[in-house]
Amino acid sequence: NLHNKIQELNGNIRVFCRVRPLLNHEKQGNNCTIDHINFPDQKTIEVVKTGHASESKNKLQKTFNFDKVFSNKATQDHVFTEISQLVQSALDGYNVCIFAYGQTGSGKTYTMEGTSVNDDDENRGMIPRAVLQIFNTIRKLKSEGWKYNVDASCLEIYGNVINDLLCEYKVGPKPEIKDINNEVYVSNLTIIPVTEETEVYQLLQKASNKRKVAETKSNLRSSRSHSVFTLKLTGENSITKDTATSTLNLVDLAGSERQKKSGTEGQQIQEAIAINLSLSTLGKFIRAIKDNDKVLPYRESKLTLLLHRAIGGNSKTLMFVNVSPQIDCVDETINSLKFATEAN
Ligand code: ADP
Ligand code: MG
Repeated sequence: NLHNKIQELNGNIRVFCRVRPLLNHEKQGNNCTIDHINFPDQKTIEVVKTGHASESKNKLQKTFNFDKVFSNKATQDHVFTEISQLVQSALDGYNVCIFAYGQTGSGKTYTMEGTSVNDDDENRGMIPRAVLQIFNTIRKLKSEGWKYNVDASCLEIYGNVINDLLCEYKVGPKPEIKDINNEVYVSNLTIIPVTEETEVYQLLQKASNKRKVAETKSNLRSSRSHSVFTLKLTGENSITKDTATSTLNLVDLAGSERQKKSGTEGQQIQEAIAINLSLSTLGKFIRAIKDNDKVLPYRESKLTLLLHRAIGGNSKTLMFVNVSPQIDCVDETINSLKFATEAN
């Protein structure tokens, strides 16, 4: 139902933690189970870090709380049931923004895109599931007089450059963020009106391929760029004359691992600086919203400049913090959980 009450228990920013399973090739010797990560309850994660054998007393246990914690056993289907209300609220006129934060290899892209877009594939991620739910609901709402226009776009922020992931040819000026009259939009960006889920799946495939091609030209690229998939929804009810306009942003963030600045080329240093800056600015921005600060810091990075109107205010934001189960990743895991706790 369009005006179903959405239970708001925790304000408009929520953080869900997800630990991915160990992959088959990662299971070797003693590393077949995830012993250093515990799930005491559905909102808590415990990470145990032990020192070297010689300093085995040196055991550090950290506990983090989130709105929800998904263990390595959680399926895509299960995770989606926990966000479907949020997706639904985009059709009620709320802006919705969903992020995936975490180190490279922690499962961000798996969570957001999954490994395929087919409706019958259990591995498909939150984006194709959200798209399907939106069109299913739009079809249902038709009988109540609602008609929706849906516009899709997809971009990548790489360093300080914005790349259009849906354009056919590289012609004309690069997309640029415009923040004019309290409205943010991106100039020179391909925007495609869509009428059913299969059209969007094709666009997703296209965007994903475009990123893969770019990846082969510049190694590490996908872990060093943010990708933003956007659906703009404009609804009008022919009977009641009600309207509902909103934007749904689904964001696969750049890898949060400490970017090494030594021994790399000039351009890579610039990239590293841009990633660190954009993620730390995002953290500060979310924090400022939580604290009800009057001044919100967002101008320092393209990512927050693009999304500052889509987070906070009348918007609903969800951040996934994705975590790797690998023991060698324990330091980055703790870093990610700390970052997410501060945003929580
Ligand atoms: P990231 O985007 O954060 O770099 P990926 O999403 O590419 O990480 O995940 C790394 C690898 O782990 C991929 O092979 C992916 O398919 C796999 N993977 C991630 N999360 C899961 C999961 N929940 N279940 C099964 N495989 C997963
Ligand atoms: Mg990825």
